[in-house]
Amino acid sequence: MSKSSTLSAQENEFINSLSSPQIHPLPITLKELNDEISLDSYLEKVKSNSIGYLVWSRLPVKIYIDEENHTNNYRISIEQLRVNQWISTVKKAIFEWSAYLPIVEISNIELAEIVISRAEPPLNTENNSSNKNITTIKAKTAQTSYKFHICNNILLHQMMIHISSNLGEISTLSAARHEIGHGIGIWGHSTDEKDALYYSSNKFLAPISLKDINTLRQVYKRPTRIGWKVFNSE
Ligand SMILES: [Zn+2]
Repeated sequence: MSKSSTLSAQENEFINSLSSPQIHPLPITLKELNDEISLDSYLEKVKSNSIGYLVWSRLPVKIYIDEENHTNNYRISIEQLRVNQWISTVKKAIFEWSAYLPIVEISNIELAEIVISRAEPPLNTENNSSNKNITTIKAKTAQTSYKFHICNNILLHQMMIHISSNLGEISTLSAARHEIGHGIGIWGHSTDEKDALYYSSNKFLAPISLKDINTLRQVYKRPTRIGWKVFNSE
């Protein structure tokens, strides 16, 4: 799992030169939650690096589903059915989360803020890297990682999610729920197996719990450098 970040002196110097983290307005979908029923969270397990929390400020979040399948459309094969099932399962998880944070599926990968690939997580992962959240069953079956870029003097991020093509329907749904949770800002794990962001994949198909939702909500109430001007311009 992810560990504390080890930034080079150069990176630290760059981050320290950035304008300070600020809080974005709370998305309306999270505002509407009832305070009384959603007090419990695992925010303390969610990591905030020097950039701040990994929240999306330009809603809806644009997701692209990359099924890596370019087979002939005219041929209905078993493989095609498997691809279709993977896609519809991932879409189900997106739909579930979109009740709490607006998400829209787009058809142009160039514009995507989150890319979900039907592929095995890359093998060249260094486990001590802080910008990856890895979920393991036996072999690695799902992973989310992020990177930053600057556009028009605004610091932005992009999430890359890999979900294996070799999982059954239940495991795919479980992995998609979990990884999309990371992708939209819950960069940490719950220790309760009844939460979708439980640290380990288990047999139990955890729904998106009140604790998951409230953790997401708490994350969006925290400061970040993402979505703000990189440098305070005079
Ligand atoms: Zn995870």
